[in-house]
Amino acid sequence: MAKISEVFGGAAAIVKGMGITFGEMLNPTITEDYPDAPAKFQERFRGVHELQRDENGLEKCVACFLCAAACPAQCIYIEAAENTDELRISGGERYAKVYNIDYNRCIFCGYCVEACPTDAITHGHGFEIASYNTSTLIYRKEQMLVPMPAGAHFPLKVEPSGESDSH
Ligand code: SF4
Ligand code: SF4
Repeated sequence: MAKISEVFGGAAAIVKGMGITFGEMLNPTITEDYPDAPAKFQERFRGVHELQRDENGLEKCVACFLCAAACPAQCIYIEAAENTDELRISGGERYAKVYNIDYNRCIFCGYCVEACPTDAITHGHGFEIASYNTSTLIYRKEQMLVPMPAGAHFPLKVEPSGESDSH
């Protein structure tokens, strides 16, 4: 008699388990198909930084160095330059002629974003930066600068010396 109840108990457990299996089969799939499909991110995801422009296409960064000062990993390198009548890159007195972030050291803490008074630096959703060559992990301004907004009338003029970057 004990053996018969064991058989029924085992069968009931199998039926219960299969019920859960079939129930899950009918639920929508939540598995990410990356890399076959694009990865999905929450808006707050901290990926590779972006350097923003205003609606006229001017760079928002005014080379105040506050982000570099706030960075605990000391991975931000900036060289400032003055805007002139002939060459205006940002809306402030100065702009970042060089702006590098070393992703060998960045811990994606977001302190630089918090420290920026002009919302010039933000986190994008880029994350595919793995490399066997660490020198490629030093990102330059040109790699992080967002594209010119549509319809922007960027008031950049060519430097008299002709040495300006093209933006
Ligand atoms: S996210 Fe953190 S570690 Fe990375 S550059 Fe910004 S402040 Fe530095
Ligand atoms: S990104 Fe922001 S905090 Fe950093 S130098 Fe530019 S304006 Fe200053």
